[in-house]
Amino acid sequence: MNIILLGPPGAGKGTQAQLLVEERGMVQLSTGDMLRAARTSGTEMGNKVAAIMDAGELVTDEIVIGLIEEQLQVKDGNGFIFDGFPRTLAQADALGDLLTANGQGLNAVIEMKVNDDVLVERILGRAEDARKAGEKVRADDNEESLKIRLMEYYKKTSPLLGYYYHAGDLKAVNGLGTIDEVKVEIAAILG
Ligand code: AMP
Repeated sequence: MNIILLGPPGAGKGTQAQLLVEERGMVQLSTGDMLRAARTSGTEMGNKVAAIMDAGELVTDEIVIGLIEEQLQVKDGNGFIFDGFPRTLAQADALGDLLTANGQGLNAVIEMKVNDDVLVERILGRAEDARKAGEKVRADDNEESLKIRLMEYYKKTSPLLGYYYHAGDLKAVNGLGTIDEVKVEIAAILG
């Protein structure tokens, strides 16, 4: 089973993806995590995208499609969870082509619905908690970058809701619930 978790930054995509990995043995493909790993290891691509990510803008379709293509070739498991990908219509088309080429498809696209006030609170809260605990704070978890990340979501990613609705794949869950409540809603969709 292959699914996409779709929603703005702070909607809880990563948290739910992690639970699906633990409980169903699915494979999480998070382009955000892949890009952060490329930065940490100081690859040429990692250095190239650093400033774009910190500002809250999207990196190019070519880079993230390349990352996903690579992972689809090497990873195998009980289905993929696409987390933070696709984020543009071009990425959505590319993902469809890559899955078709592998003889696969999408089983569900799950929209995690959350309102903006909650997103801002959650993300700035996450940064504050990390700071208090003496942990590293994500460079894009600040008010300025967050505004840009949300605008990028509405301009470039939210059109995917119409795209997948018309493809017949779109389902929605209430992302304002507790982690457990959201998990139960997702389980009801996946069966
Ligand atoms: P995330 O961890 O999913 O919030 O992603 C962090 C940052 O990585 C985003 O703000 C973008 O700069 C970049 N990024 C992650 N996934 C994508 C994607 N699918 N397309 C473009 N940029 C991405």
